[in-house]
Amino acid sequence: MRLYNSLSREKDLFVLPTDRPVTLYVCGVTPYDTTHIGHARTFLIFDLLVRFLRWHGAEVRYCQNVTDVDDPLFERAARDGVSWQDLAEHQTQQLLADYAALNILMPTYFPRASEEIGTMIVIIERLIELGHAYVVAGNVYFSVQSDPDFGKMARMGYDELLAVANQRGNNPSDPFKRDPLDFVLWQTGKPGDPTWPSPWGLGRPGWHIECSAMATRYLGEQIDIHGGGADLIFPHHPCEIAQIEPVTGKRPFVQIWMHTGLVWLDGEKMSKSLGNLVFARDALKEHSADTLRWYLFSQPYRQEFDYQRAEVAHAAEAVRLLHMALDLEGGAGPVLAPDVPRAEFLAALEDDLNTPTALAVLHMMAGSVVSAAADGANVTGYQQTLRDLAQILGMVL
Ligand SMILES: [Zn+2]
Repeated sequence: MRLYNSLSREKDLFVLPTDRPVTLYVCGVTPYDTTHIGHARTFLIFDLLVRFLRWHGAEVRYCQNVTDVDDPLFERAARDGVSWQDLAEHQTQQLLADYAALNILMPTYFPRASEEIGTMIVIIERLIELGHAYVVAGNVYFSVQSDPDFGKMARMGYDELLAVANQRGNNPSDPFKRDPLDFVLWQTGKPGDPTWPSPWGLGRPGWHIECSAMATRYLGEQIDIHGGGADLIFPHHPCEIAQIEPVTGKRPFVQIWMHTGLVWLDGEKMSKSLGNLVFARDALKEHSADTLRWYLFSQPYRQEFDYQRAEVAHAAEAVRLLHMALDLEGGAGPVLAPDVPRAEFLAALEDDLNTPTALAVLHMMAGSVVSAAADGANVTGYQQTLRDLAQILGMVL
């Protein structure tokens, strides 16, 4: 199949390995708030990818982390006067309940960053030995000047990289940094933040090192596919590459980098600060998991998705037709053959998970069942194919 790789900016050929499992790592959530539709879209896309790879006969090892060492979690816990552990545990359980309600398969590995600190420390020590990192006052920074390829995925000049990093949590005025774009591998943190012992004193890891550590620990030094939301194209994913490739000595760390477009709401960017988040569990009160899945798959995954509440009803109609087509009884007339639409459906998914085309094929097939059954055709085999294909998309039916 072909999958769009954010590093090559091409649809790269992905050949299923025959002698080992496919490895997939997807950056997970910081557990301080409930799953919103933007998270849901990302995890639904990778759920589809896992189902499709398994349908092809591949064994898939899928690791998705929980970022339970992160500023927003600590800030929310302090604001609400609860322990960060309790908040993280409660929100992680909510996330898992949302996954179950959305028919999202559990990842093979679901590690929590707070339980993986030792792996991170080993990588950071090695980066210091190799001259890629330096220690100042109990903090350890990655030196971006030590990596001529730093940030390649973003295809931006230095000033633009710095501006984007600053929007996404970088502190350019940290007096200990040699370069304002250098990023934290280990930090003393703010007073009150949780700390762990390390060779550099009590502190905690930076965000980026968490994913490099968990990805390599659970999936190996080189992995097939690594994904996340498009906001991770910089700085998070290039930082992951920069800090792990020198340590393993293996390139590339990842064969294919996949990113899902961000989700908007009725034409506005969906964000905490605007207060217009749609939570998965609220959407599920009004719509079935199949309807939400159909709706969120109705546009190409790499594009930004404008969640329009009025549009979800159209997806519900399409899902109703699908269910109806699967429930009909045909006649003893000519057999309706599914081979052509089946091939079209599979070809669509093999083309970088082209879900809009795949849905159009399913919709057409559902319509064919309804009209052929009315004419007395034998639709049993066709219905079975329709059901199988819908289940690759993760429909509950
Ligand atoms: Zn990550």
